[in-house]
Amino acid sequence: MKFVRYINLREKAFMLIIMFGPPGSGKGTNAEFICSKYGLSSIATGDIMRSKMHQQDALGKQISKIMGTGELFSDDIINPLVSDAIKEKLAITGNNGLLFDGYPRTSGQFDFLNKLLTELNIKIDVVLLFQIPDSTIIERVTSRRIDKETGKVYNLQFNPPPANIVHRMEQRLDDTIEVITNRLNVYKQQTEPLIQKYKALGIVRTVDASETLVEAQERIVKVLSEFKQSIN
Ligand code: AMP
Repeated sequence: MKFVRYINLREKAFMLIIMFGPPGSGKGTNAEFICSKYGLSSIATGDIMRSKMHQQDALGKQISKIMGTGELFSDDIINPLVSDAIKEKLAITGNNGLLFDGYPRTSGQFDFLNKLLTELNIKIDVVLLFQIPDSTIIERVTSRRIDKETGKVYNLQFNPPPANIVHRMEQRLDDTIEVITNRLNVYKQQTEPLIQKYKALGIVRTVDASETLVEAQERIVKVLSEFKQSIN
């Protein structure tokens, strides 16, 4: 571990944010907004797994099988990937902090992250909890489409792709009605209970994700202004 590098970072301001909320609540889109506005590095476990899936080898096939059900990967697979990603991101010069998108999702991951952060002497500044009704999630997620050439995300209802690229649109294999229903169940059973543990630490701030993106972002900026001096 690059402790020296890390100590340098701590001399400078450093911030750690966890994006928490059900699948399809806008964590990914808002993560991009936060990272570019405040100069943080994102660790998105879903993106890590999708990039491995697209390698199309034996591991990729195994990954798409699990993702296609909406179930979670085991902690034994996810935790070491996160540990490596943290080390890699901490080594980046000019990094103002880290943002976790989609991690932790189980109590095993929660404990692993706590232990790792304690070893690194990093504290979690804020957990942003995205709140949104299931019916809105299902509506949003099933109409989400990805441009397979650029990776840009569109929504057939709220942000439709231009007519000349409609033929390039793909649906994520876990954005079907059946799979999103299971992802929501998995979230309620395995992930949602963790929020009480973060609430006990007094670091949870809610974001109403059923409003427009602009309204959600205004709320995020307001919440993060509490910490502004630490990320300037
Ligand atoms: P996401 O893009 O965050 O919605 O994640 C997509 C899928 O990747 C999930 O439905 C899981 O199958 C897998 N995944 C992402 N993050 C985790 C995690 N922290 N633990 C286990 N599986 C995960």
